[in-house]
Amino acid sequence: MTGQRWDAVVVGARAAGAATAMLMARGGMRVLVVDKVAVGTDTLSTHQVQLPGVACLARWGLLDRLVAAKNPAARRVRFDMDGVVLEGGYPTYQGVDAVHGPRRTLLDPMLVDAARGAGAEVRDQVTVAGLCHDVDGRVTGVRVHGRGGDETVETASLVVGADGKGSTVAREVGATAYRETPALSAGSYTYWAGLPVAGGEIYGRPGLLVGAWPTDDGLTVTYVGWPSERFDEVRRDPEAAVVAALDRCGDLGERARSAARAEPVRSTPDLPNRFRTPYGPGWALVGDAGLVMDPIMAYGIGHAFCDAERLAAAALEGGGDPARTEPAMAAYQQARDAATMPAMALTLDTASFAPLRPEQRVLLERLSGDAQETSRFLGVLTGAVSPSEYFGGRNVARLLGLRGMARVVRARVSARRR
Ligand SMILES: Cc1cc2nc3c(=O)[nH]c(=O)nc-3n(C[C@H](O)[C@H](O)[C@H](O)COP(=O)(O)OP(=O)(O)OC[C@H]3O[C@@H](n4cnc5c(N)ncnc54)[C@H](O)[C@@H]3O)c2cc1C
Repeated sequence: MTGQRWDAVVVGARAAGAATAMLMARGGMRVLVVDKVAVGTDTLSTHQVQLPGVACLARWGLLDRLVAAKNPAARRVRFDMDGVVLEGGYPTYQGVDAVHGPRRTLLDPMLVDAARGAGAEVRDQVTVAGLCHDVDGRVTGVRVHGRGGDETVETASLVVGADGKGSTVAREVGATAYRETPALSAGSYTYWAGLPVAGGEIYGRPGLLVGAWPTDDGLTVTYVGWPSERFDEVRRDPEAAVVAALDRCGDLGERARSAARAEPVRSTPDLPNRFRTPYGPGWALVGDAGLVMDPIMAYGIGHAFCDAERLAAAALEGGGDPARTEPAMAAYQQARDAATMPAMALTLDTASFAPLRPEQRVLLERLSGDAQETSRFLGVLTGAVSPSEYFGGRNVARLLGLRGMARVVRARVSARRR
């Protein structure tokens, strides 16, 4: 069956797809967005939206909806790295100063609703089974399988793969992967009723990274990241493994023991790290389909939002004309990679669970108790301050001074002796 002709068909209607469809539709494009699952279905993901992602929601006029839905904001963080503790608030970034943690059952339908409100057509529970091409190999549309097994061909100037890390679109077009690192960590998360948190809590211990954040319905979500080689052991008794991990994080274990676990522990070792070339003739990728990283730093949703803005701008600039679209898409890839490569480096470093290096310990000790510098450091973690700039020699020398640098040298020497 032949369907309609669209300016864009977006495959996937979550963080990346619904946002891209909304922005394209707001720009005047005729957009169809499809998803194989029902809108509002949960997915395997926690949901800290870092400051750059929250800034996107604010720009799009959607942050008020999260606030109206009583989604709690975390303005302050306790960061405890192997016993060195920093406590402070986030810096203000593009007018926002709080991380939000909406469950995907709240966030994704809200985005879908906004896409519909902008004029995009949304069809859920339909699956894109493959792509259509012209004689030159240019992608011209998608083959969609409906709920009753019927197949429709939807034609489009641009097919957008917002279909996650296992992207069908990326596979069908043979998108090239680069800067790929196999999974380093596995993650386990669950929800607690009656586990009070004053904001976000992040704990680093040898072989462990733990986060605790407030989320919807008064629940607290805890995320435990461990080296991927521990996954088999963890999955034998995930509940016990999680509580044992929380027990290593100050009084978090004690608070969890006095709380009620509201949902089963969900665990996954499927946490790849990779960039893919995000465009080609008639197609583009956005969100995890084009760039996926270990969620240990919780950058995925924010990256998906920022990519959605860049991709929608490129598509609107191209206006369906391949000659104008090609350079706009090249600029999209360049801007995405420049913005996210430092985040990938920080993510891989964190997911390697390497013990705190002497210079890191000295730096964190220097920041402890300094509200302004702690805030800037939290800005790095949330993706609002560039890690390469922050950890660059000049800034570190400024922070540590001569005395601090001498301490680093002494600490390195004694670490080597040990
Ligand atoms: C355990 C875990 C914890 C995480 N925690 C965080 C966090 O705290 N903060 C954060 O920012 N990020 C986190 N992430 C990452 C985050 O989940 C992703 O970055 C984000 O979901 C990417 O959104 P997306 O829209 O690109 O893809 P997805 O959310 O994967 O959505 C893709 C959609 O495409 C649909 N689809 C796929 N194939 C087809 C097809 N053929 N036809 C039709 N539809 C299709 C799927 O049904 C799905 O709905 C976490 C990830 C994991 C695994």
